[in-house]
This record gives sequence, C-alpha cells and structure tokens, in this order.
Amino acid sequence: LVARMRPFGTTIFAEMSALAVRTGAVNLGQGFPDTDGPPEMLAAAAEALRSGRNQYPPGPGVPELRAAVSAHQRRFWGLEYDPDGEVVVTAGATEAIAAAILGLCEPGDEVVCFEPYYDSYAASITLAGAVRRPVTLRPDPEGRYAFDPDALRAAFGPRTRLVLLNSPHNPTGKVFTPGELELVAQLCREHGAYAVTDEVYEHLVFTDAASGHVPLATLPGMWERTLRISSAGKTFSCTGWKVGWVSGPRPLVSAVLRVKQFLTFVNAAPLQPAVAVALALPDDYFAEFRRGMQARRDQLVGGLTDAGFGVLVPEGTYFVTADIGPLGGVDGVDFCRSLPERCGVVAVPTQVFYDDPEAGRRLVRFAFCKRPEVLTEAVGRLRRPA
Ligand code: PMP
Ligand code: GLN
Repeated sequence: LVARMRPFGTTIFAEMSALAVRTGAVNLGQGFPDTDGPPEMLAAAAEALRSGRNQYPPGPGVPELRAAVSAHQRRFWGLEYDPDGEVVVTAGATEAIAAAILGLCEPGDEVVCFEPYYDSYAASITLAGAVRRPVTLRPDPEGRYAFDPDALRAAFGPRTRLVLLNSPHNPTGKVFTPGELELVAQLCREHGAYAVTDEVYEHLVFTDAASGHVPLATLPGMWERTLRISSAGKTFSCTGWKVGWVSGPRPLVSAVLRVKQFLTFVNAAPLQPAVAVALALPDDYFAEFRRGMQARRDQLVGGLTDAGFGVLVPEGTYFVTADIGPLGGVDGVDFCRSLPERCGVVAVPTQVFYDDPEAGRRLVRFAFCKRPEVLTEAVGRLRRPA
C-alpha cells in the first residue's frame, strides 16, 4: 500500500456494520434506511432491466437523468444547469467528490473543509496529493454546532484551491446558516477559490431549523465557481444504487468528467432512468419524506435524552450526535466498541471524523433513518441498565 494511504484503515461504517451483524445488535451506525424508496422508481428500474437497457450508457449519464437533475434543481433551488455539459452522473456522491478533487487539485493545493467531515473527504484529498485545512465545528452553549469565523478566515491562504462544504452536515446534522454561507462565499471570492458542495441531504432540513437549505451556488458570484453534488441514495432511500451527480459551469464539470471516465467510465444503466422518474415526483413526495424523518428524529432524540445522553438536536440529515459525558463515558470509540455487547445497539464514534480527535472525543452518532419500531427497540435497549 502506498505510504499516503497507510493512515487510512477500514472505514468506520464497515467496521461498525460488521459488529452489528456479529452481535445481532440494532444498527444505528451506518446511515442507510430500512425501507424501500418510491414504488414508481422501483418499477421504472425493473422496467428498464426488462426492456434491455443493460449496456454501457453515455459517459455523462443517460439524457433523461441529466434532464431530470437539471429540472429538479430549477424547481427546488432556482438553479439553472444545461443538461448537456453542466450535469454529469457519477457512482454516488462519493465518486463525484473524488473526481472533483482529483480534477481540480494539484499536489500541494489546499482544501478547506469543516471537521468532523465525511470520511471519504480526507481520503480523496490525500489521493490527489492535496492538503486538508480543517475548521472545527463545536457545539455552542445552546447545543448548536458552530465554527469560529476567524478560524475559517485563517484556513484560507495562497494555496487554497477549494472549499469542500457539506450542508446539511454529516455527522452533526448542522444546517449552515445564510450568514455562515455568506462568509464562505466571500472568502472563496476573495481568494479565487472554488467550492465543492456536498448536498446529499438537501431534502432533509427540518421545519424547526433556523433556516432552510440554501445551496452555496445561489449566492452572488458562486454559481460560476461551484461544483454542486447530490445523489439519489438519501432522498430516495436507495443507498445501494450509488447514483449521484455533479452540476456546475462547463469548465469545472468537464474537469470532473475527464477524471470520472477513468474511475468508472459510466454508471449503472437501468438505474438512471429510474432515478429520473424519482426526481420528477411531485413536491408532496419530498415533503412527506422530510416529515417522516423529522418524526423519527423526534422519537430518537426523546429516547436518547431519556437514556441520559447529552443530545445535540440536529436541524437536518438523518443523524443525531450525543455527548456520552453525562453517562460517565470519556471516549466515544471505547463506548461504541462495547455498546453492542452492553446494550445491543450500534452507534458510530464521531471522533474518527476529526483531525483533532479531542474535539469529538465524547461524541457519538446515531442514525434515525429506521422504522419507528426499530427505534423503539433501540431506545428500550439503551435505557435498560447494562
Ligand atoms: N456525502 C455525505 C455527507 C454522505 O453522508 C454520504 C453517505 N451517504 C455520501 C456523501 C456518499 O453518498 P453516495 O452513497 O451517494 O456515494
Ligand atoms: N453516508 C452513510 C453514513 O454516513 C454511509 C456511508 C458509508 O457507509 N460509506 O453513515
């Protein structure tokens, strides 16, 4: 294994899901729903398989999916992208993130990101030979994750190539406010930096959040410097399909495509028309999806609070983070490794998503994208004394 990849072990998600299988614990670790997505989408995939759409599709993605991605962004966010040249389909958001960084960063270039960060960010930055400049999100006295604006300013410099922004944010559930986004945008403009935005949870901002979802690309001067990434996995409960996409101005999207053609070349042909059907579902689908997930959030937040955790209520995503300090816990990794044996529940320690593990030492993440009866069972187990 090359030296630069040696610090990366097995991803925490694989480790914790294997632990769940081994111990028979309720898996609230890896974020994947336990119910299927919209039946119209599943029927369209079956039909595409049966009707022979089983050979290599076009590299940038099938035309109806690119058109649907474009129409969806216009409908929800007022963003305009030409399906021919400003949209590329990828193997999930993960490939889009990797291809964007590999296509834009020279070795030694710096990438500003917010920690804790989704684990593929550090690996993709490292594969490109680039350097990450993390800015730490910390819970404020009201339990809201925030960053120090001066720390963000200090993270930008002459080698900054891009900022990698994930909002709504995994693992914290933070939704970046318009003021925070404006500062990010201002720094990008001042430093001539690009933005790569990971918006896979764009439809999971809860109604009690301080603000709704605002794509960074909608801010002044940002469309032309932003690659906007999303995927079907979260919004349509099909994380195993790995259909994602990236949108942006032509020169940036062609940089992604240049790399993407040698990573995967093309992506699953029959799933693409099915995701196009899902993206065109009426507004009600998206509202109902959010309502259902908000009810699950409330259920798990209530249960974890009753069990004695210091819960940090998320404004978006399908994750909740909690402080184990009130339960006498001191280290999230130790806590999560023993939790399946002690209580029969799997969670993920968030310290593995920080460069500075101290910042997340006592925080653990639970996923609530599960059926209500599964959450009830998990909460019952957590409340029982070990
Ligand atoms: N970004 C974030 C913030 C995620 O939580 C995930 C995981 N689901 C991904 C990217 C990867 O998405 P995909 O499965 O579409 O590759
Ligand atoms: N995005 C999901 C999570 O954060 C799963 C990611 C994965 O398994 N790589 O849990």
